Amino acid sequence: MIPYPAPAEEAVDHRKNPPALLTSQDREGWIPCWIQTARRSQLSTDILYDPQLFVILFRIDSDLAEKARADRCSCGGRLDTADYPRKPRAPIDLGPEHHRRHSFCCAECRCRTTPPSVRFFARRVYAFPVVVLVTALAAGLSGSRLATLRKEFGVDRRTLERWRVWWRELFPQTPFWKTARARFFPPVDGAQLNVVHERFAGGLDGLVALLRFFSPMSCASHAL
Ligand SMILES: [Zn+2]
Repeated sequence: MIPYPAPAEEAVDHRKNPPALLTSQDREGWIPCWIQTARRSQLSTDILYDPQLFVILFRIDSDLAEKARADRCSCGGRLDTADYPRKPRAPIDLGPEHHRRHSFCCAECRCRTTPPSVRFFARRVYAFPVVVLVTALAAGLSGSRLATLRKEFGVDRRTLERWRVWWRELFPQTPFWKTARARFFPPVDGAQLNVVHERFAGGLDGLVALLRFFSPMSCASHAL
């Protein structure tokens, strides 16, 4: 583990000088996430209407898929394309390139390999950024403001409550979080999504970095 350097006494602009995360995997192709100690990131759903977000996420998923293919199956076999048909819900129309989740089947042992994703969260019908951002926003809302948020994204009450329960009660128990939380300095107090989200920058870059961070959880075994 590469120790995160102790914070300097003076204010540091982490967006200009982002500290790297701690694993070699992070250093090889992950966008470094920077840790905000001086300000809270502003939550807004505007970003979910930005087509550029989904262009970036598609590219990232393509890179993750290519890496998985290059790594081959654990048996050493060649991985052939065997994508899953999907139709993620988002506030804007997503092109046909988003109607498939990358997946592979081994030419030798026929085992599946599904790479991590920043667009799909297990079998959730909503796009991963919608699940993350709406859940984070919902943490501070109740009553009519919560209803407005649900209405804007067409998320029914039970679905949103399921997301909130998962992030609040199950996410802290995941092996992913038990390992990943050690990357934060200062330590994250709690595991609630909005608390984790605050450690990332705002805007498009911050959401993309957050989704990269969460992408190992995108496989079905970790999700709802
Ligand atoms: Zn195999």
